[in-house]
Amino acid sequence: MNDARRRLPAVNSLLAAAEQAGLLQRFPRQVVVDAIRAILDSARGTGGGEPAHGWIEAVTHLAAEQSRLSLTRVVNATGVVLHTNLGRAPLAAAAVAAAEAACGYSALELDVGTGERGSRQDHLRSLLRQITGAADSLVVNNAAAALFLLLDALAGDGETIVSRGELIEIGGSFRIPDILAKSRSTLIEVGTTNRTRLRDYLQALSPRTRLILKVHQSNFQTTGFVEETALDELVSLGRSRGIPVLHDVGSGHVLDLSDWGLAGEPRVQDSVAAGATVVFSGDKLLGGPQAGIIVGPEEVIGCAASHPLARVLRPDKFTLAALEATLALYRDPAEAVVQIPALAMLTASREALGERAARLAALLPQATTGDGMSVVGGGAFPGAELPTVLVRVTAAAPDALLAALRKYDPPIVARATVDGVLFDVRTVQDGEFATIAAAVKAATSG
Ligand SMILES: *Cc1c(COP(=O)(O)O)cnc(C)c1O
Repeated sequence: MNDARRRLPAVNSLLAAAEQAGLLQRFPRQVVVDAIRAILDSARGTGGGEPAHGWIEAVTHLAAEQSRLSLTRVVNATGVVLHTNLGRAPLAAAAVAAAEAACGYSALELDVGTGERGSRQDHLRSLLRQITGAADSLVVNNAAAALFLLLDALAGDGETIVSRGELIEIGGSFRIPDILAKSRSTLIEVGTTNRTRLRDYLQALSPRTRLILKVHQSNFQTTGFVEETALDELVSLGRSRGIPVLHDVGSGHVLDLSDWGLAGEPRVQDSVAAGATVVFSGDKLLGGPQAGIIVGPEEVIGCAASHPLARVLRPDKFTLAALEATLALYRDPAEAVVQIPALAMLTASREALGERAARLAALLPQATTGDGMSVVGGGAFPGAELPTVLVRVTAAAPDALLAALRKYDPPIVARATVDGVLFDVRTVQDGEFATIAAAVKAATSG
């Protein structure tokens, strides 16, 4: 044993020193003891002695790190508005307030008028009817769950017809054919990857056909020699045989955003008007909490609602409260674009972004600004061009600077280029500029 190792202090003496320093008031005793052991282990492992800033400083640092919650807020400087890894849509202030109010006891399943038991779905039905035009609605945990529930409830004892061009992968673990395989419904593929005509659906109809499914190709685009069958043609075909048509539109696009260069994504109310049952996410373009929203005719919704899986997939009170408050904002579209953060970010003007980028750049050493592109994210508007203004900080090792920024409290997520780090102010809140400046300073003065 070398001298340094022999001179390591005992756990108990460090614990006494930690208590003197007030650490036992800040952290649970076990956290401090574990931190002491870990610091001593690492000193022993490296054959070193006392850490540079002293034992207690090292223990404090580690205990604080171990006590920090893992699911923290982060600063999104990527310019990806609906960033799945960062929790997709940030909630509107009204939605946050509603979710907070629902934290204690709430009217979740109480009809306050009659005092009778109500349904948690009742809070959303009339808003969803106003916004989408659909007679009835059902909200579940997410859109993948909604799709699974509908396939099993409507077509579990028969066949579902889908175009080969729509057997898509949404992300990592979600592929339409896999969801179909797990529901009891039999997948009947029709058409080809690039072209599917009404005739293809017609030829696939059988006495066992229970559902026609149309899926929006959300995260990619096909161009060239392509053809898909229009939704209203599918609905007419379905009606002639008494078969419902389900449209998975993905993003929950409701307002017309074409003035901001965002066009081509199907809108929920148009698919409802065409006569389909529609499925969409709550936390993509809609700008609300994670949810799978189903809107459609009463008999279809009733069938899904009475399926045992509806109970398995039911949403919690925070989700429903935040969703109700988000939907309420849609009653005034001009306000919705301002109040719903995802929509406000997507519709931010080039001038406003330029002005904000200049303000952030002024807080950073040797930063420059330049033109760039933001991304909608969440599989919505995959080809959309969203011109933005980027703030660039030069760095010899951009990945190392990115990593240091991610370690900051709160973590900051930005983009790298060959010789620097880029901050897209579109997804950064004004109140976060000072945080970015402090984090860059801490990371580059190190
Ligand atoms: C995103 C998406 C889904 C999955 O939605 P989640 O709410 O994430 O489960 C399903 N279908 C389409 C077309 C999508 O774009």
